[in-house]
Amino acid sequence: MLDVQEQATSSAPAPFAKHDIPHAQHGLDLEEALIFEIGRPDVSGVDFEEPAPFVDRLGGLARRAPLELPGLSEPETMRHYVRLSRKNYSIDGGIYPLGSCTMKHNPRLNERMARLPGFGDIHPLQPQSTVQGALELIQELARWLTVATGMDSVAMSPKAGAHGEACGLMAIKAAIAARGEAATRRVVLVPESAHGTNPATAVRVGFEVRSIPVRADGSVDPLILEKNLGADVAAIMLTNPNTCGLFEQDVVAIADAAHAAGAYFYCDGANFNAIMGKVRPGDLGVDAMHLNLHKTFSTPHGGGGPGAGPVVLSARLAPFAPRPFVKSDDAGLHLVEHRSEAPEAFGRITAFHGQMGMFVRAFAYLLSHGADGMRQVAEDAVLSANYVRASLSDLLSPPFGERPCMHEALFDDTWLKDTGLTTLDFAKAMIDEGYHPMTVYFPLVVHGAMLIEPTESESKLSLDLFIATLRSLAHAALAGDRERFIGAPYHAPVRRLDETQAARAPVLVWTKPSALAEAAE
Ligand SMILES: *Cc1c(COP(=O)(O)O)cnc(C)c1O
Repeated sequence: MLDVQEQATSSAPAPFAKHDIPHAQHGLDLEEALIFEIGRPDVSGVDFEEPAPFVDRLGGLARRAPLELPGLSEPETMRHYVRLSRKNYSIDGGIYPLGSCTMKHNPRLNERMARLPGFGDIHPLQPQSTVQGALELIQELARWLTVATGMDSVAMSPKAGAHGEACGLMAIKAAIAARGEAATRRVVLVPESAHGTNPATAVRVGFEVRSIPVRADGSVDPLILEKNLGADVAAIMLTNPNTCGLFEQDVVAIADAAHAAGAYFYCDGANFNAIMGKVRPGDLGVDAMHLNLHKTFSTPHGGGGPGAGPVVLSARLAPFAPRPFVKSDDAGLHLVEHRSEAPEAFGRITAFHGQMGMFVRAFAYLLSHGADGMRQVAEDAVLSANYVRASLSDLLSPPFGERPCMHEALFDDTWLKDTGLTTLDFAKAMIDEGYHPMTVYFPLVVHGAMLIEPTESESKLSLDLFIATLRSLAHAALAGDRERFIGAPYHAPVRRLDETQAARAPVLVWTKPSALAEAAE
């Protein structure tokens, strides 16, 4: 191993003591220290000329101690950032089977389109007459989204799925206030199988959440729902397909019951990937539903780009959609931004008009697939998930038996019962095999959940390798090879991290070791 202390020149202070050298290198996978740990204030990648003598104008407020910015030479800087970039696991690098996240391939054509100067170089404060093409794209995308969902209108500005939920519930809140029922309709019903953002959003928007139990098969029972519906209920939030990867078969009965009780039906449409081109939410009685452009419509997410969560609305809710939105008139297209033009709009939920770059990518995706291609996407996504489910069901335990799934395959930890191993151990061992783990411990309705969403963009070869790896790991677990799991991952630069502590008490600021030592004294 490189001895950094010996390499340091005698005049410069050693950057870190020998025992501080990060040592979890594996093959060519290198642990990288923080830039503060490897940088030295006396090093620079640029040659500066000695400044001419000058009189400072700070009135005696000159800095007394050095700034201690970490300095690196150009090659050191290069290596630092390239090494960091290689730690970013990505859909471009391998299968990313995170259930509920729809990590599909981001077509490069979309990226080309988003970088066209007419889209990439415009500014939201430009005169509207100079961005007519961009406004037309927003309007065309909006039209495609309403046609694909069978809904009346769409609010384009929300910037994520959860933001879309907030937008939909705020429209519902405004509609209820317009009916004069703001004081009485304060409850939102949320089934146990809902995505975690649903109850959080309802509370954030000022509603009270009532949780609805699900049936043994993971779906919502309209009879149980009906018992909870009353004059105090503003809306029900149903995720469909739900977080167990199942289609809610009684969705129409659920919508009818909600409407009969005077409530609105919010559908979490983040999983639209599984059903687009097959069923239109508008035909199911949905009043509001967000679409995740960053899932279904392939725009990059999870560190690769911002989200976008347009919300489609029924005719009953359309007048309450937030400003701004695009409208055509004789002079062309313009943004409706003021109360005078949209008196019932509940207001604005974001500065400017939404995620323009994501709109371009999503529209390119829609145009390049067409209506038949979008249907094929849904069919292939469901086929991939069922292939994974059927190929693992004899070893892992599917909680709802052999029932086909939609876009994601769910297993619980019953099969690990006698092994002394947990879902977490299994997931960590996958890293040693070169696979990003699936979503674990979500949804909460089954014990030790493992949720796999392969998406339509994996080839059969890729799925076969993934399945073969999981099968061999499962055999090892069942054969009692505990060592392989409890210490995993063995082949990663960092091993078992304290994830709870990292989430509860994250250390976000680097403290100089000498300051730490002083504090300890
Ligand atoms: C991803 C997801 C969300 C949240 O979307 P964000 O863009 O992450 O805010 C909500 N519901 C479901 C079912 C999801 O899968």
